[in-house]
Parts: sequence; C-alpha cells; structure tokens
Amino acid sequence: ELKERARTWTGPATLKDGHSVQLLANVQDGASAAKAATHPVEGIGLLRSELGFLSTATEPSFETQRDFYTSVFNEFPENKVVVRTLDAGSDKPIAWASLDDEENPALGVRGIRADGVHPHILPVQIAAVAAAAEGREKNTWIMAPMVSTVAEARWFASLVRPYGLKPGVMIEVPSAALMINEIFAEVDFVSIGTNDLTQYVMAADRLNSHLATYTSPWQPAVLRLIAQVTAAGRAAGKPVGVCGEMAADPLLACVLVGLGVASLSVAAPTVGFVGVQLSDVTMEQCEAAAAVALTITDPNELREKVREILS
Ligand code: PEP
Ligand code: MG
Repeated sequence: ELKERARTWTGPATLKDGHSVQLLANVQDGASAAKAATHPVEGIGLLRSELGFLSTATEPSFETQRDFYTSVFNEFPENKVVVRTLDAGSDKPIAWASLDDEENPALGVRGIRADGVHPHILPVQIAAVAAAAEGREKNTWIMAPMVSTVAEARWFASLVRPYGLKPGVMIEVPSAALMINEIFAEVDFVSIGTNDLTQYVMAADRLNSHLATYTSPWQPAVLRLIAQVTAAGRAAGKPVGVCGEMAADPLLACVLVGLGVASLSVAAPTVGFVGVQLSDVTMEQCEAAAAVALTITDPNELREKVREILS
C-alpha cells in the first residue's frame, strides 16, 4: 500500500499542516536528469559533475563542458539546478584532475583541494556552467565539494559571483560544520553531504561494509552537527539543504525537516516515499523527532523513538 502511494505521489512536498519542503533529485548527466524529470521533483539538488567526466582521459574543452550543462538544464528549464563542481579524487579518481598514488585518498587531494593543485580547471568549469546558464542565472546554484576552510569558501564565491550565479558550499567535512557561521558570511547557501560528513565525523570509511554501525545515518553525533548547521542557516537567513543518502530515508527526512532543513535532494525513484511520509506528519511532529535526535544516544533506540513520534 505504501509502495502504491509512493508510486502515485504527485508532489510538491507539503507536510500535513501545509509547510512546504523542496524535494529535488540527485543526477549525474543529461540522461539521468531526463529520467528525474519524469518524477515529481522540483528541480535538481545535486548534479555530480565529476560523474559526467569520469571516463575522459583529458580535460574536456570549454565547449564540451558547456554542452554537458546545457543538456542538464534543458531537462529543468524553469527549475532550480544545483551544480556541484568536480569532486575528483578519493573514490572518484579523474585522470586529468586528481593525483595518483595517494597514501590515504579520502583524506587527500579531493574536491576543491584538487582545484587548488590544478588551478586552471575550476575557472573553466565555472565559466562553462555560466555559459550554459545564460538566461536562467537565478535558478542556477553552484557549489564546491569537500570545503574545509573559510578561505576555500571565500575563494569559490569570488570565482562564481561575477557570473551572477548563486555560490554555495557542501558541508561534508567537520571543520566546515564547525566554522559554519563564518562560511555563511561568504556564500548564499550550503548543502550537507551526509555521506562524507558521516564518514569524516565517525572516522569510518563510507565504502567499508564492516563499519555500517558507524556509518549509520542514525548516528546522533552527525545529527547534532547538522543541527548546528541549520541553526547557523536560520541565523544567517540562508538555506540549508541535504543531498546525502540520509535524506532518502523517509523517517530521517522528517527529522531533517524538524531540524530546519529546507530542501532534500534524493535519487529520483525514492522521491515518492519521502513525499508520502512528509505528507503524513506535521511540523510539530518533525520538531519533536528532531528534539529526540539531539538527546538519545543510541542509533537504534533513536530510530524506534522517531518512528513512534511520526506515526
Ligand atoms: C555526500 O557526500 O553526501 C554527497 C552527497 O556527495 P557524494 O556522495 O557524491 O560524495
Ligand atoms: Mg561527498
């Protein structure tokens, strides 16, 4: 029955009491954006641009990059699209953008750090996004992955602002979450990457199945850090989204909304499950679920308690 409700859910997402939540899709290229457009999402919350260029041996030309973004924007002409700049390195090695032979690649030169090592790449990428975004600047948000310092946020914003696009950063390194007030002074929005944030908060490899207890999205340490980020967003009057897997768990989606997250970006086929769950609860229930997430210390106990509050 739930499956059927999810399949036929038409969006947009609203809680039982009318509060709206923006549900967006995670995509990787024009083809996956076209698929996402067949689901009731309000736009794209994470374009993993590096996945579009994983297999090219050399840096794609400006024109190739521009056409790639055009193919994505064409699927959502009137909607918000959040482009993530290259997250090269670690689990996504890119021949022309990352370093080989790192001892510890998850803690190495990845994301915006690779843009520091290869400084010609990021300006071209941003210019290509901007060229594709002509006429839709207001709906084109652009964010950097793996930001860990305020200086990186400032540098990124300084490259993006001249084009009239909205600069933001991903919050997926604990240092960025701890410096969130200062980061909000530099950028217009943040999106929390809970996959990496969990990996780095818990010191547990996201790909290692022996560590599932640590990488559980119900770990309260991660939720507590997310609460700090949403509090800073509220204080700054700037939006906080979540684009990690955590947002696709319907119960956790409610917790995140209760913590003050404005948009959730998920794999498009899961959007109905999240939308249906949100429609069954009030903001008061979400806030109660968020409150226990900040007090209960055991992940399993927390999940049960949240389930009770939301049912
Ligand atoms: C994340 O880390 O949560 C995220 C959304 O980025 P990726 O999974 O691509 O690293
Ligand atoms: Mg990540």
